[in-house]
Amino acid sequence: MEPSDVDPSIAALERSLALNRARQRDLRDEEAEICSQLQELRSSAKQAAKDAAEAHHVLVDWTGTFEWDATVADLLKSRFGHDSFRPLQREVINATLSRRDTFAILPTGSGKSVKSATQTHALSLRLPHTARVLIGELQRFSPMQLLFQLPGLLSPSGLTVVVSPLVSLMVDQVASLSQRGVRCALLAADLTDRTQSTEVHHQIEDPATSGLRFLYVTPERIAKSKMLVSKLQKAYHGKMLLRFAIDEAHCACAQGHDFRPDYLSLGTLRTTFPEVPILALTATASESVRADVERSLQMDHLSARFRGHFDRPNIKYSVRKKLDEAALLDEMAALALRDFPSQAGIVYTLSRADAEKVADGLQRRGVRCAPYHAGVDALSRQSMQAAWQSGRMQIVVATIAFGMGIDKPDVRFVFHHSMSKSLEAYYQESGRAGRDGKPAEAIAWWSPSDFYRLASLACDTSDRAAAWRALVGSGRFCEMRHCCRRECLASLFGQSLPARVGAVSLGQCCDVCAAASAEAAAPSASIAHRSTLEEMDVSPLAIDALRCLAELNDAAAAEGVTDGGAAPAKLTALKLVEKLASRLRHADAKLSREALEHLVLRLVLADAIRVHFAFTAYSILTYLFTRPSLASAVLGDPGATAHSAGLHALACSLPSTLLPMAKAAKANKGGGKRKAAAASDVPPQSRKRVLPESDGSDFEVEQPMKQTGRDAAGGMPAGRGRIASAGVEVVIIDDDEE
Ligand SMILES: [Zn+2]
Repeated sequence: MEPSDVDPSIAALERSLALNRARQRDLRDEEAEICSQLQELRSSAKQAAKDAAEAHHVLVDWTGTFEWDATVADLLKSRFGHDSFRPLQREVINATLSRRDTFAILPTGSGKSVKSATQTHALSLRLPHTARVLIGELQRFSPMQLLFQLPGLLSPSGLTVVVSPLVSLMVDQVASLSQRGVRCALLAADLTDRTQSTEVHHQIEDPATSGLRFLYVTPERIAKSKMLVSKLQKAYHGKMLLRFAIDEAHCACAQGHDFRPDYLSLGTLRTTFPEVPILALTATASESVRADVERSLQMDHLSARFRGHFDRPNIKYSVRKKLDEAALLDEMAALALRDFPSQAGIVYTLSRADAEKVADGLQRRGVRCAPYHAGVDALSRQSMQAAWQSGRMQIVVATIAFGMGIDKPDVRFVFHHSMSKSLEAYYQESGRAGRDGKPAEAIAWWSPSDFYRLASLACDTSDRAAAWRALVGSGRFCEMRHCCRRECLASLFGQSLPARVGAVSLGQCCDVCAAASAEAAAPSASIAHRSTLEEMDVSPLAIDALRCLAELNDAAAAEGVTDGGAAPAKLTALKLVEKLASRLRHADAKLSREALEHLVLRLVLADAIRVHFAFTAYSILTYLFTRPSLASAVLGDPGATAHSAGLHALACSLPSTLLPMAKAAKANKGGGKRKAAAASDVPPQSRKRVLPESDGSDFEVEQPMKQTGRDAAGGMPAGRGRIASAGVEVVIIDDDEE
């Protein structure tokens, strides 16, 4: 046998070996996925059984009559100057006074309107734990303090321990309580010296004598100071420890965006002080975060749970197309100066460098602003915050370090220079707008490339899978054009919106609703202002993208390139789009690069394309590869369709001038040879529709659709989704209801 006869056989064997390995990887991935699903299901079944058992025991009507009603009402008036409670305050206080572990998730700025009793009732019926979860609204940050201050003052003596990560806020509270003649103390690393600590420790061990009523302390202190814990034990044995109030409780969630490791050590409070009720407070937590926090804090005293309503009817949410940096800054500055003159706002950025750059750019455009991040020294940050709060500075350009616990009700706009890492973070950050209940706007700028940047950050976290799921939720939120954004955010917390009223019907609720109502209002006569969009099936294009990616990775693997791992061709999203664009160019199908970028991203969000992370000394790179089972399907079958590959059908609407079919038909007359591939990608007929012309940033073509299901990844609705970008729109249609 000649060596030249052997070479092809070797190559063939190597190729099939590479394919087999890819399949192995795929199977292993799938196995891991199934295992984790199984585990999740098992634990949720266990939790459900526990919940059911609890519900049986905990059918307490917290709105009912309690022995302390008169004293509580008295105290509310005399100490806090209020005649009545805000929604849910009384219920939470009743639960914690009943010595139950209590979890209160009360949004900080839900506007002034209080839901009518019937609406509240209707909403609570749709939720699990109907008996325990009550819905209401709270307006401002300060009402949260009432939830532990009032019960703490109800007993003639005894100590309430308040754990909070926000030192400046604790300083304020201590000052205000002291002014009212209540003895309280603060233990925090930067503020308390040794002598003071010793003095406070003395007061803690015997509150009956010292008269100490509130101890404010950082979670770090509880975690690290054995002395403190032993003093608290003395108070405990003297029956003088009333309760632990854990503020910003969501920080105890390991998967959360605000996770603080020291919060985990708070779990020992339950074991060290088994009889002391815990009151966990936060402005935001999804159901999974709540469950995680309860586990961390070992809240097992038949917890009572309260959840305020999360809808923010006065905030208009929108997502805008991210232009190049200079144009983006022009747009932001124009908005700030023209639409919100002299009104306060926040711009959130992803990194310190971004904060510096954006602040500099906005300053050059005449906006009074400054960068705020962990790298700025404490003194400058303080003066910056003061300038912003007094209105001398219009905008703080900040990383997420800014905003927790800041009480400024009249923030009129929150801009996101980059989307947040999770929708929960986005909800919380954007929610800092309009706490006074007056109209406010939340605008996020988005481009597909942001997704990969966020992905490389997400992969650098301890729980990569959770971070990825959260990010996919953010990505879908930005990509979608078919479902109300407020509805989407409410669904994150397992809630649905009340009947569409007020702002919503005016199309002021979000960009999706605004576009829908603009379309509905556009008279058919104004045809001159409309452009023609045609819809085509782009699933062949998606298959082409998957095949192109699989082929390139396969070829690289066969060449023995291994350091790319699952993605040996080292194709970034950008490179893949280039390859696709050049293939299409050869085929006379001029789909814009931008449309292709969205198409590729949608395939990533649909898990048809996966991301491989490559760590270098300075950065983390994201390479793409086709999900292995799909890769074998599209490579093994030249006639593979979206359907045969088990993928959703993809449809695309775009201006007729950009339609590849028209171009292909023209080229056909000339007898062009190279268009075959793309021409076959185009369905035999496309549907013509007349659509209103938008301002160029977005095309919006259909009324928001009724949603049928919501998937687990980010609480986002499954089903039809669409990608809108300048003049191009891709609709993804689910074939199979999963
Ligand atoms: Zn809406």
